[in-house]
Amino acid sequence: MANQVRVRFAPSPTGPLHIGGVRTALFNYLFAKKNNGVFYIRIEDTDQNRFVPGAEAYILEALEWLGISPDETIGKNEKFGPYRQSERKELYEQYANQLIANGWAYYAFDSAEDLDALRKQAESEGKTFIYNHSNREQLKTSLNLSKEEVDNLIANGEPFVIRFKTPVGETLELKDLIRGDIKFETSLLDDKVLYKSDGMPTYHLANIVDDHLMETSHVIRGEEWLPSLPLHELLYKAFGWEAPKFAHLPLILKPVGNGKLSKRDGDKLGFPVFPLDWVDPLSGEKSSGYREKGFYPETVINFLALLGWNDGTDQEIFSLAELVEKFDLNRVHKAGAKFDPEKNKWFNQHYLKLQEDTDLADAYSVILNEKGIQAEKEYVTKVVATIKERATFVTDFYELSDFFFVAPTEYDAKALKNWKEDTSSIMMNVAEVLEGINDFDAKSIETEVKDWITKQEIGMGKVMQPLRLSLVGAVKGPDLFEIIEMIGKAETIKRIQTAVQKNA
Ligand code: GLU
Repeated sequence: MANQVRVRFAPSPTGPLHIGGVRTALFNYLFAKKNNGVFYIRIEDTDQNRFVPGAEAYILEALEWLGISPDETIGKNEKFGPYRQSERKELYEQYANQLIANGWAYYAFDSAEDLDALRKQAESEGKTFIYNHSNREQLKTSLNLSKEEVDNLIANGEPFVIRFKTPVGETLELKDLIRGDIKFETSLLDDKVLYKSDGMPTYHLANIVDDHLMETSHVIRGEEWLPSLPLHELLYKAFGWEAPKFAHLPLILKPVGNGKLSKRDGDKLGFPVFPLDWVDPLSGEKSSGYREKGFYPETVINFLALLGWNDGTDQEIFSLAELVEKFDLNRVHKAGAKFDPEKNKWFNQHYLKLQEDTDLADAYSVILNEKGIQAEKEYVTKVVATIKERATFVTDFYELSDFFFVAPTEYDAKALKNWKEDTSSIMMNVAEVLEGINDFDAKSIETEVKDWITKQEIGMGKVMQPLRLSLVGAVKGPDLFEIIEMIGKAETIKRIQTAVQKNA
């Protein structure tokens, strides 16, 4: 089992999963599959104040929708379980104590008020308060108090935290698989809280202990965790454990302007930043998701893969299987990747075209039924085949094809300006020509109508444009003769008569 690639996605269930988190999950998934490894999910729910009901189920559902479900997680191959940190609570205390025992951590008894006062004091001197080597030996800590005093405080139930005793004056030379060599000065770090007397570990302790116990080989996560890297490396050292390899993925940037993509950018520019719809259980606030907006999982996988990675060529379309084959952490770049909502739609257009017409027809039928339109599956399938080239979403279909199902009730005002005095009689003549066609297929209709136009010497535009307007109500839609074939002779003639009545 040694050297097996084991990677994890370790979200905190504090709300819906941001699209950046989905990218992190995807890159972990790809790396695991590429290396015949294991992709697991661990839920980091030690911060009970930020716990949001439903978030965990949302995360797992989102990954399932995208086809990147974990090999191990809650309720699935629980080889290293539990996979929820709140259920591992008892485990962390011994590790915190181990660090105290070997001199890598200390008790701190400062109350919230004490710390507040220290912060204010520093502020008044124009400084920022940092809990570190410069003051830990003067504050209310086990580095300052006698063993007896410490024991008494603990015995009396005085609240405490356990802080990491960051070494002083060392230069850490760390490696990141994406960012290369990075140096950190330990003296600049603060002494982070690892454990609280309420029995809960903080993110840092639980994360390192679990990555170790769950035999994580690589930690692939967002760049926002890079500042935690020195502490994490030091924690591995303090425990005497081999650290996993680290890779910090580049930020996902706003489509316009600078900075990290946020929910507000999505709201402002009208695109989702979440995989699925979400309703906040407390505020009732709704956030829209890619799935419900009509994006395909293939689309989301494809555009996320290209946020920070490419295969070295100009190729842009990648299936999940192809990504597994080609993914390489060496090709992930450091620079932030701009989110491009317009490009994402382009990807969806591509994947929509690849869907089976019959599947698209099923999806479209739901929309048609909502509008009170019942149509044969075969007919809807044919409609879909003629219009899908021009659609980005199934929800675009109706706008592109309403005339296949209902006669126009209005006519485009601008196009109507070309309805001249003789147009109505020309249209009635066309109706007669159509009436006389026996093989009512697009090809025959086209030949007959065009022959007639040529013979009459009226000019194509004078016939075709008002004919389209009569049948469609606007200057849009696919080939007119196909429309005529589809809606049939009787309906075509009826629409021409109506148009003539209304516009003559
Ligand atoms: N729980 C952290 C998060 O919410 C995990 C960070 C990490 O991968 O170490 O993203």
